Amino acid sequence: MEECVFCKIVRGELPAAKIYEGERSLAFLDINPISPGHTLVIPKEHASSLVELDEATTADVFNAVRMVMRMLKVALHPDGFNIGINDGKAAGQEIMHVHVNVIPRYEGDGGKPVQSIVRNPPRESLEEIAEKIKRV
Ligand SMILES: [Zn+2]
Repeated sequence: MEECVFCKIVRGELPAAKIYEGERSLAFLDINPISPGHTLVIPKEHASSLVELDEATTADVFNAVRMVMRMLKVALHPDGFNIGINDGKAAGQEIMHVHVNVIPRYEGDGGKPVQSIVRNPPRESLEEIAEKIKRV
């Protein structure tokens, strides 16, 4: 956990282009931006998955996402946003500290919607899958 780069950013041990700070959250520009204004919003406490966060932290993180979107809208005038979390290695998570990607989108930027990241439709019916999930 001490080696986590996002925890180091929270503690001020690594530099970051911070743009917003909430009580339990921090937002800074992605060091390898895929779009102008690409921002990461993280909880200040270490957690690898969104499911590990408590309700107050989750609320603070998503309020920060909303604030960042407002700030980016005024400052950079994007035409839209993709909001995404890579949760787990299979989903492409590289830094194992929860981070919400706020990706400003611009008309004609050549990007695609989040639904384009995988094409693996289920073989079972939606009813069968819903039953499995609801049994939990
Ligand atoms: Zn961490």
